[in-house]
Amino acid sequence: MDFQKQLKSLGMSVTPVRLAVLEALNENPHSEASRIFQAVQDKLQTASIQAVYKNLNALVEHGLIKEFKPKGMSAIYETRVGDNHHHLVCRSCGLIKDTDCIDTAPCLTSTDPKDFKIDEAEIIFWGICPSCQNKHHSEIGET
Ligand SMILES: [Zn+2]
Ligand SMILES: [Zn+2]
Repeated sequence: MDFQKQLKSLGMSVTPVRLAVLEALNENPHSEASRIFQAVQDKLQTASIQAVYKNLNALVEHGLIKEFKPKGMSAIYETRVGDNHHHLVCRSCGLIKDTDCIDTAPCLTSTDPKDFKIDEAEIIFWGICPSCQNKHHSEIGET
């Protein structure tokens, strides 16, 4: 992904922190701000957590990244935007996985607001991931 080009086409200035934030997110999708900050600091020791937050907010505002917040967790960021995909979240270990919707956006029908022009549906599927299921089974097997 050419982030420099994307930033320029949106009229956003290209700064080292901004690029490092995008690269960190591209390498580690579904990261929270503190994890992005760590990855950015590996490249730019002078980067501050405030600068990372400021850039995350600006990038969300411009639609270059997406922010979502599963219940009980920190806000999660990702560079995969505009495709109306959804998320699977493991209740046990907090693993987050992308899941594609099988229909075109918004892929769900709302019965309520008839005059509301809906273009996206944001869904979080909660459950137990395969490795936590296995762990659970082996624990039961031991007793
Ligand atoms: Zn799990
Ligand atoms: Zn995702």
